[in-house]
Amino acid sequence: MQDNNQPGKTPDGKSTPPKGPKFNIYWVFGIIVLVLVGMTMFSNNFSNTIDAHSFYDFQNNYLNKNIVEKITIVNNEVAEAKLNTPATAPSPSSALSSPKEMIYSFRIGSVEQFNKDLETAYVANPNLQRVPIMYESRGNYLRELSGILLPLLIIIAMSFMMIRKMGGGVNGGGGGGIFNIGKSKAQLFEKGTKVNITFNDVAGLDEAKVEIMEIVDFLKNPKKYTALGGKIPKGALLVGPPGTGKTLLAKAVAGEAQVPFFSMSGSDFVEMFVGVGASRVRDLFKQAREKSPCIVFIDEIDAIGRARGKNMMMSNDERENTLNQMLVEMDGFSGESGIIVLAATNRPDVLDAALLRPGRFDRQISIDLPDAKGREKIFEVHLTPIKKSKNLDVKKLALQTPGFAGADIANVCNEAALIAARNGKEEVDMQDFNDAIDRIIGGLEKRNKIISPEEKKVIAYHEAGHAVSGWYLEYAHPLVKVTIVPRGTAALGFAQYLPKEKYLTLTEELEDDMCMTLGGRASEEIFFGKVSTGALSDLQQVTRTAYAMVSIYGMNDKIGNISFYDPQNEGGFQKPYSEETGNLIDREVKIISDKAFARAKALLESKRKEVEIIAEELLKKEVLFKDDLERLIGKRPFGDVDDNPEPGTIVSQAPVEPPASLGDIAS
Ligand code: ADP
Ligand code: ZN
Repeated sequence: MQDNNQPGKTPDGKSTPPKGPKFNIYWVFGIIVLVLVGMTMFSNNFSNTIDAHSFYDFQNNYLNKNIVEKITIVNNEVAEAKLNTPATAPSPSSALSSPKEMIYSFRIGSVEQFNKDLETAYVANPNLQRVPIMYESRGNYLRELSGILLPLLIIIAMSFMMIRKMGGGVNGGGGGGIFNIGKSKAQLFEKGTKVNITFNDVAGLDEAKVEIMEIVDFLKNPKKYTALGGKIPKGALLVGPPGTGKTLLAKAVAGEAQVPFFSMSGSDFVEMFVGVGASRVRDLFKQAREKSPCIVFIDEIDAIGRARGKNMMMSNDERENTLNQMLVEMDGFSGESGIIVLAATNRPDVLDAALLRPGRFDRQISIDLPDAKGREKIFEVHLTPIKKSKNLDVKKLALQTPGFAGADIANVCNEAALIAARNGKEEVDMQDFNDAIDRIIGGLEKRNKIISPEEKKVIAYHEAGHAVSGWYLEYAHPLVKVTIVPRGTAALGFAQYLPKEKYLTLTEELEDDMCMTLGGRASEEIFFGKVSTGALSDLQQVTRTAYAMVSIYGMNDKIGNISFYDPQNEGGFQKPYSEETGNLIDREVKIISDKAFARAKALLESKRKEVEIIAEELLKKEVLFKDDLERLIGKRPFGDVDDNPEPGTIVSQAPVEPPASLGDIAS
């Protein structure tokens, strides 16, 4: 079943064919406005018989002839002169003439002006009879009414349009958005039918599966737990980088327990309209309660769950309301009700502490990027529907894709199949997979991008600099391949490394890493005596690492064992240190990166020969793998330990940003 807020659908789900002009709120508005405008104009002509007559006309034609019986000043605007003898006077064109009673009316500037003019007329002509003047205020109700109603209607119409636009945009362009604005857009997958994903579809993630198994058990036999006085958890947080299978796992829980699955993204809750987010939360949980037991999955919970009151720039009322409503809902149902809320995030550190308290998301299940073995299993899952050649080496594919998330691997498999089909192959072979991996890594290949021979040479020496410096640094990651084939928009070439899969990083490792990253530019300087702009991303990476060492990891003597890492205050204006300390940090960062560059240059000076060999070979072959380097410049002095990477986790060097999902690439 799906949310029933789509337009043009009858309750039985069939769409109605459009017949005749559709009823539309704008038509109604339009017609009302037209009628009002028409009425206003008509009533103008109807009640006010005013022409371009002036006091002068009036004086000459009527007043001076003594045929004015009385003057009525209406609303201080119009003078209506009642004429008593129609005989000699020219028939006033604008008079509402019944034969007995003729009225000549004209607009007066102001009452004072009128009286003055009248007085002057009397003085000028002493024979004139003084005419009685009456004042009258006459309501033109139609005019007044439309004067109020018209702007009001326009305002209402405009706000309707705005609401519709926003509601429509969010609902994917559906009409009638306004009426559904507070309704959750949670997707509902009916029990057993729609969620046919099981744990078998989720490769790897063994530990996470064990932990989440328990939740499946809660849903299946709640009595088993409550009988012993235990409390069933209400929620769990799935923590991990994008594409690692958090949604997949949550769906699998629903599939395994045979319960409905509601899912919604945190960013969907946060709308421009105050109160919408909260009402969506309310609606989502209302639906969930009706279908319990069930799983409620909230993706990107950090969109609403960020710590409150940290970012002063933005008005956070709406998000706070949404978050509060979520807390209220979670406190509102008991464990026995059978609703379990799973939420996904990559940033548990920024979440509001209230969300993590007991009785809410008190369990955290971490889901990391897959290691080599995990990747192999994921490859196997996604290779199942593919017609693959027999010589396909899944292990090798897994080894070639360090840092890939499950979603990236799914992408590779799909891409490989497309490439094979494009080349008219019967089955997908290793070459297709290699191409697909390259494509996913660096965007589409741009072999035919025009690069001058000189440029190509600089790029070759730059990449050779990376490769050679890494080759002779003890802690640098082992090289996978180095290439000068341009990829994507930014990188003109790159050296790809296999990160050691481990949890902690030593100062020496960061230093070697920076040295290797600066090897490209150092090589340019050694061989060409000048540097190019091609090292931008290298420099960014080094700067980031150096800052992290000084201000986050406490790896600098001058700053000491202090970490200014404050994820809650990211993007805030206040730096957590004084200006003095800030200057010191900047100085130390410069010292560190200068040192790394000097080291890289010294190292490559001593390995000039090797750089030249690699660079020239790169110019010939464009791509060199680890084996080629061994053949050309000998085995890596420190290489052997890393030949069989241990399963583990890739440590990102600068945790200020989420770990890059594509392994180490120096461009
Ligand atoms: P997340 O919610 O963590 O961002 P998803 O669960 O949406 O990631 O994963 C996206 C897709 O990637 C899945 O639909 C699936 O095809 C693939 N995928 C990710 N992780 C795995 C895994 N462990 N096993 C199999 N497929 C996976
Ligand atoms: Zn580089």
